[in-house]
Amino acid sequence: MTGVLQPPIAGCATAGAPSALPVLRERGQREVFCGLTGIVWLHRKMQDAFFLVVGSRTCAHLLQSAAGVMIFAEPRFATAIIEDKDLAGRSDPHEELDRVVAQLLERRGEIRTLFLVGSCPSEVIKLDLARAAQRLNARFAPAVRVFNYSGSGIETTFTQGEDTCLAALVPALPALPAGETDLLVVGTLPDIVEDQFTRLMATVGFESVHFFPPRHSRELPAVGPGTRVLLAQPFLAETLKALQGRGARHLPAPFPFGVAGTTRWLTAATDAFHLPSELLRRACLAPMDRAERSLDRHRALLEGRRVMFFPDSQLEIPLARFLREELGAALVEVGTPYLHRELVGPDLRLLGPTVQLSEGQDVERQLDRCRAERPDLVVCGLGLANPLEAEGIPTKWSIELVFSPVHGYDQAGDLAELFTRPLRRRAALGA
Ligand code: SF4
Repeated sequence: MTGVLQPPIAGCATAGAPSALPVLRERGQREVFCGLTGIVWLHRKMQDAFFLVVGSRTCAHLLQSAAGVMIFAEPRFATAIIEDKDLAGRSDPHEELDRVVAQLLERRGEIRTLFLVGSCPSEVIKLDLARAAQRLNARFAPAVRVFNYSGSGIETTFTQGEDTCLAALVPALPALPAGETDLLVVGTLPDIVEDQFTRLMATVGFESVHFFPPRHSRELPAVGPGTRVLLAQPFLAETLKALQGRGARHLPAPFPFGVAGTTRWLTAATDAFHLPSELLRRACLAPMDRAERSLDRHRALLEGRRVMFFPDSQLEIPLARFLREELGAALVEVGTPYLHRELVGPDLRLLGPTVQLSEGQDVERQLDRCRAERPDLVVCGLGLANPLEAEGIPTKWSIELVFSPVHGYDQAGDLAELFTRPLRRRAALGA
């Protein structure tokens, strides 16, 4: 496929029958991080936003260890810790929160947007953060706008934090003037990847492309019936629903992982805006060629290898598509916390006829299936990786796939390397 657009690309993003793969639905014990984890990449993206978790010391520890905070750093996130006296009803948590927020905003004048992030403890004591945000907005807007969303671990998986955060922002997006059209790329992308896509899209003829979330939280993109939404992340179901509620239309497409995924994703956008496919073909030749060459050495290692995904990041289906279609891996089981067919349907149709799909988790049963299958590589959460490694099964932490730049042509080789590294390490150890 070196340097040539694949023939089925034109219009393929929405083509094909719905996947008829049977789905194993499990509703047992789960092993996942909570939605607070999303703060790690969201605060890096929105450089003038602050995330105040209203939670416990556990929440504070989770954030500090996930984000690797230096002791003298001035991070743009913190935890307002709910103390025993708040839990016992001996103090008014709303008054306490107002005091903490006032102190914070006085000390950190650069904050333009403040997110109050709910946690398990704040939800258990039914602390109404929507009301708190309303009250604080009355006091601090327009200098600082206050939003609230939930990052709690009750019924969530860790990428849902980004979804609830972005969905909370949607009502604040300005209206796109009637008669105007706009392409809106939705989902946090590292700046370097966003810049690559911006350049590529300008080359193929897009006059205006906006990204959500933006780098500066006050530069929110407009939305309206002329907006076409191209999702960059597959875990944004609530955000998509909120954007559709503002009139935007979704462009279904495989996600931009690897060469074929990125090309189909771009094609969905150019088709929707009736841009010439020849321009896209020419613009993509060089990056596709580079990306194909970067995949070659990884293909040699992954071809025929049996891979199993545990449900964790919600990236599982697009990544399984990439491993199977572009690197020749054999899929044993692809588990996902939630199966949003509207979002992952185009990738799902490319998974092949034999893969076992599972939605939700019953961790012990899934571990039993894994031990019986003994795959060559398991993609799973941190909590399961060490025990599986100890049993001689190589693993890849799924959270790394969210923290690393993995979208687009120029990151295709790095993405493949995330999967081959554990295999190389095993080989080097002679295991
Ligand atoms: Fe733990 Fe819940 Fe806090 Fe997440 S939000 S760190 S799951 S207590």
